[in-house]
Amino acid sequence: RAKGLGGNCYQLYEHRMNARAHELLVMESSLHKSLRAGELRLFYQPQVDLATGELIGMEALLRWQHPTRGLVLPGEIIPIAEDCGLIVPIGEWVLRTACRQLKELQQHCGTAVPVAVNVSSRQFVKTDLVDTIARTLHETGLPPRLLEIEITESMIMHDLDAALAILSELRRMGVRIAIDDFGTGYSSLSHLKHLPISRLKIDRSFVRDVATNANDAAITGAVIFLARTMGLEVIAEGVENAAQLDFLMRNGCILGQGYLFSPPLPVDELVTFIHGRCDSAATALAVLQAFA
Ligand code: C2E
Ligand code: MG
Ligand code: MG
Ligand code: MG
Repeated sequence: RAKGLGGNCYQLYEHRMNARAHELLVMESSLHKSLRAGELRLFYQPQVDLATGELIGMEALLRWQHPTRGLVLPGEIIPIAEDCGLIVPIGEWVLRTACRQLKELQQHCGTAVPVAVNVSSRQFVKTDLVDTIARTLHETGLPPRLLEIEITESMIMHDLDAALAILSELRRMGVRIAIDDFGTGYSSLSHLKHLPISRLKIDRSFVRDVATNANDAAITGAVIFLARTMGLEVIAEGVENAAQLDFLMRNGCILGQGYLFSPPLPVDELVTFIHGRCDSAATALAVLQAFA
């Protein structure tokens, strides 16, 4: 009897696995089409000076305007794209779009803050990442100092020599490098010291309970101290409330990003966000038309 039951369970399991595999295949083929169909979007989350609220940068975040499912988030897109190799063309699309749109903003709004682009490990190990970035900057005319590449600790530690070569070349070009989700991976501080990094991003998981949890407070405080000691910029991710803001400012963190300031915005709403910094309503309108 037990055997029979096991058999049933297995059949149910197999059925579910098949359904899941089928769903993934369908998603994979529609993601393939999404690129050509123009269904991919970039949202931009403002990064601010915590003390003044001044815009100091923005992070480009991928969205997929799916014809029937609505807005699909990167948590679902990226794993599929990495699995089937689509991450490379999608990554190039993200890079090109972010550079092009920031260039438009720079021309029409005088926006001179960098845009941060997330790069996945699959793109990072591809040997032509530096060439792709150089070509994209050249084609879009965006000054290299206005581009920031976000990578994770594990991408660096996976092959330290290769990472050092890539990062050094990017830095030589004038592109900025940020370590994303800092504190969640494991990286050796002695190695970090030798890498040409501009900025550490404190992971949202530490910031969340920073005002109430002693461990998170200690870790966040230590990362801020570490960054400042090493002469790096430090930015807190996922700042949602005044208590977190207060802790961060008291502990010497200058920069932040999170729902307290703004969620990730579609580009027209980003223009509205920046509007206060545009010279006139006319220029804002020109930007909107440039994006249309
Ligand atoms: P990330 O790079 O750490 O990006 C920050 C994530 O936190 C974003 O989620 C953002 O919407 C979310 N977030 C920002 N502020 C808050 C807040 O105050 N509270 C909370 N709860 N969340 C906040 P999103 O857009 O869903 O992206 C998730 C991850 O997907 C990103 O994490 C990044 O690792 C990856 N990703 C996004 N876009 C791209 C891309 O173009 N290429 C690659 N390779 N990965 C991407
Ligand atoms: Mg990021
Ligand atoms: Mg992050
Ligand atoms: Mg994160």
